[in-house]
Amino acid sequence: MAAACASLTIAAMNTSTSATRALPRIAVLATGGTIAGAAPDATNTSGYQAGVVGVGQLLAAVPSLAAVANVQAEQVASVDSKDMALALWSTLAQRINTLLASDEVDGVVVTHGTDTLEETAYLLHLSVKSDKPVVLTAAMRPSSALSADGPLNLLNAVIVAGNAKARGQGVLVAFNNRIHSARDVVKTSTYAVDAFQSPEIGALGWVQDGRVEFQRSVVRPHTGATPFVIDSNSAAWPLVEVVTSYAGVSRVAVDALVSASVKGIVVAGTGNGSIHSTVQTALVEAAAKGVAIVRSSRVGSGHVMRNGAAADDALGFVTAGALNPYKARVLLMLALAAGLTTPVALQQIFDTF
Ligand code: ASP
Repeated sequence: MAAACASLTIAAMNTSTSATRALPRIAVLATGGTIAGAAPDATNTSGYQAGVVGVGQLLAAVPSLAAVANVQAEQVASVDSKDMALALWSTLAQRINTLLASDEVDGVVVTHGTDTLEETAYLLHLSVKSDKPVVLTAAMRPSSALSADGPLNLLNAVIVAGNAKARGQGVLVAFNNRIHSARDVVKTSTYAVDAFQSPEIGALGWVQDGRVEFQRSVVRPHTGATPFVIDSNSAAWPLVEVVTSYAGVSRVAVDALVSASVKGIVVAGTGNGSIHSTVQTALVEAAAKGVAIVRSSRVGSGHVMRNGAAADDALGFVTAGALNPYKARVLLMLALAAGLTTPVALQQIFDTF
């Protein structure tokens, strides 16, 4: 997972005066996305360029931030999150760990595109080594839009990151007034402002008008309680890909991945992670060659039962539980990078995190 740490500039947005000293000190790390997007006119909410507005401008659009936190800002990247890269994940995770290890920082906010936000959030949930709040936020409308949602989402994310109740809850996503756990949250709409849900389980809490409330807590271990480490000594990310099962699917994708020396395959199966018999045959052959096979579902809610739709014990498959295929891929990559490779060891990881 080695990645050079980008050279970063910290710009203090508020100086620490006696009036503001008691405010939480929050580092805002900007990575791009629609929240930093701009379109030619204010009514254009789909034909815009993501990640073109700098973090200074994002913060300047929310003057009320000065009343809730002492904010320092860094431009870690300026990408459309559809292009999120493994090297950038490494940079981001390492930078967050460095910041949170400092007594000068009480919490971190990451601005991100919505497209892969749930993947980055879960990666950080599994690899950040601090119980200080880390809150991701985003926007569905570019910064230039009428009723842009980014400024309020950013303000709410900073408020959550500075709130003592958010400590120890793992990585959070503050979006459209709701607070979600990184493990549960998924993007569920291509266009609606209320684009994120935590299917089956619901949001952890809410943030409104400066008030933060949690309605439940996070049960599974996260952040400091995982074996996953992303640092400058980390090995290269293992090749793990997702294949989908559907009517008439061929085994071409699985065979091509095995030829490319894939280390793990997550299957976005039908229903309870069921797999077309043609693909299943190819996956059994891949498993026999040492490729880790994880069954998840393309359905979007619910969980995949072990030895339910497939005889996992006999086939050497692992089941993803409630993780969607893309989050299952994140966990599988981290587990393989940590040297866990057998179906038994991997199943334990999926049952735990
Ligand atoms: N394509 C954009 C991104 O993920 C979408 C968004 O941010 O809403 O960066």
